[in-house]
Amino acid sequence: MPDGLFPDASPRVRTLLRTLLGTDVVGSLVAGEILPGTGESLTLTNPADGRTILTYADAGAPVVDAAFGAAAKAQRAWTALPAAARGRAMWNVAAFIRAHAADIAELETLSAGKPIRDTTAEVARVAEMFEYYAGWCDKLHGEVIPVPSGHLAYTRHEPLGTVVQITPWNAPVFTAGWQVAPAICAGNATVLKPSELTPLTSLVLGALCDRAEGIPRGLVSVLAGAGPTTGAAAVAHRDTRLVVFVGSAEAGARIASEAARNIVPSILELGGKSANIVLPDADLDRAILGAQAAIFAAAGQSCVAGSRLLVHESIRDALVERLSRAAARIPVGAPTDPATQIGPVNNRRQLDRITRMVGDATAGGGTQIATGGAAPDALRDSPGYWYAPTILDGVAPDAEIAREEVFGPVLAVLPFASEEEAVALANATPYGLAGSIWTADPARAHRMAAAIRAGTVWINGTKTIHVSAPFGGFGRSGFGRSSGREALLAYTAAKSVWVETAASPATPFGHPG
Ligand code: NAD
Repeated sequence: MPDGLFPDASPRVRTLLRTLLGTDVVGSLVAGEILPGTGESLTLTNPADGRTILTYADAGAPVVDAAFGAAAKAQRAWTALPAAARGRAMWNVAAFIRAHAADIAELETLSAGKPIRDTTAEVARVAEMFEYYAGWCDKLHGEVIPVPSGHLAYTRHEPLGTVVQITPWNAPVFTAGWQVAPAICAGNATVLKPSELTPLTSLVLGALCDRAEGIPRGLVSVLAGAGPTTGAAAVAHRDTRLVVFVGSAEAGARIASEAARNIVPSILELGGKSANIVLPDADLDRAILGAQAAIFAAAGQSCVAGSRLLVHESIRDALVERLSRAAARIPVGAPTDPATQIGPVNNRRQLDRITRMVGDATAGGGTQIATGGAAPDALRDSPGYWYAPTILDGVAPDAEIAREEVFGPVLAVLPFASEEEAVALANATPYGLAGSIWTADPARAHRMAAAIRAGTVWINGTKTIHVSAPFGGFGRSGFGRSSGREALLAYTAAKSVWVETAASPATPFGHPG
C-alpha cells in the first residue's frame, strides 16, 4: 500500500465539523445545542483505512427526552406560521445546503467512505428535496367531499406531531434529507436517529435547519447514538406519533412491533434483491453499462442495487464475459479521488458479511466467480474495507446469494428461457423493492413492468429515483411510501369536518324540550 494514499481523515473531519457544526465535539443536536451523550463510547472509523476518526458517547434516554421536549415546543411555533412562510423557511435550508455542499460531501466521503463523485451528487439531491417540499407547504390542502346528506364536509391534512426517523449508514445525508423534508413540510417536528456509524452529516443537516431563518430551533433534532439504546428509546417515547425506519428487515420488524405496542404507525423502507432483466433484443451496450451501475455503484451498498442479473440464455455467455471484463476495469480506490467509482465497504461487519456470503455461494462448486471475489489486488494489504466488483455465474435460483441481500458489489447471474420465466425469477425472492427490464419491445416492457412485484421498475434504465416520485417496497422490502405527494400524506392524518347546512337537522332525534 503506497504511503499517503489515505491521509489520516481525523484532522480534516474535525476542521469540517468546526466549520459546519460550530464544534468538533460530537453529541446530539437538540434545539441548536450539541448535548453530550450519557451512554457508552462509540467509535467512528474511516472505512478507507480502518483508522479511528473520533469517539463519542451514545445519547441515551435523557437526551432523547430533551429532544422530544424541544420538538413539541418547536412544532407549535412551526404550525403557527402561515404555510407560505414555512415554504420560504425550507428554501432557506436548501440555500444553506447548496452553500456548504462541497464541505458536506467531503465530510460524508471521509466518514462513510463513499466516493466523492457520489456524495457530491447526493448533497445536491438533498437541497432539491427541501426545494421540492418547500413548494408543497402551501399546496397541501384538503378537499370538499360531496356527501349525500345536508352537510358541507371537508378534509384537513393535519400534522401528526413529533415523528421519529431512523436511518442507515449507506447514504446518510441523502436519507436524512429524504425523510426530514416531507416530515417538516407536513407540519411535524422530527427526531432523527442516524446510524451510529455515520451520524456526522445528519448532525450538520440538523444544524443547517436550526440556522435557517424561519425554522424554529428544535424542529429537527438529531440523536447521535446506537439503535438498541437511543433508537429504541425514541421509538418507545410517549410523544412519538410515527416511526419511519430505513434499514434492514430484521431491525425494521423489531421497531415496527415496538411502535405498534404504543399504537404508533410505521413506514418501513427495507432492503431489496432487485432483478436486472436483459432480454435478447436489448441494446446490449446500454444494458452492460446499466448492469454495472445497478450493482457496483456505491460498492453495491444500495437498497435498490440490481444484485441479480437475469439474462436470456442465448446471450448469457457473451454478456457475462463482457461484463466481467468491464467490471475488472472500474476504478476502485481512495474515495476522496474524483476518479474513483467504487470506494470501500462502509464497515468491517459488512465486509465480513460479503466475504461470508460469497464464500458460502461458491463452496459447493456449482457457482463460479467470473471476476472479483476478494479485495482488489492493489488494495489487498490495505487495512481498509475493500471488495472488488464481483460476478457470480451459475447461481441456483434457490441459493442464499440469489434470494438474500448481500449489500455489497456482488452480482448473481441467473439465466432464463422465456419472458414468463424471467418474471417468475424476478418475483422469486421475499423482497420487492425495484427492478429493471432491458428490451427493445415496448409492449413487452410494459407487460413485464406490470407483472414484477416491486415498488419501482425501470425500463431500459436503472436506479433513477427522484423526490417527486413515490418510492417504497412490496413484501420484505417494507411498506408505506417515501417521496412525492404520497410521503406528504403519510406524514399527516386526514381529519373530516362536517358542517350542517340543511334547514333542519340531518338526523332528527329526541325532543326540543
Ligand atoms: P440496520 O437495520 O442495522 O440499522 C438501521 C438503523 O436502525 C440504524 O440507525 C440503527 O442504529 C437503527 N437500529 C437498529 N436496531 C434498532 C432498534 N432496536 N431500535 C431502534 N433503532 C435501531 O441497517 P444498516 O445496516 O444500517 O443498513 C443497511 C440496510 O438498510 C440494508 O438492508 C439496506 O437495504 C437498507 N436500506 C434500505 C433503504 C430503502 O429505502 N428501502 C435505503 C437504504 C438502506
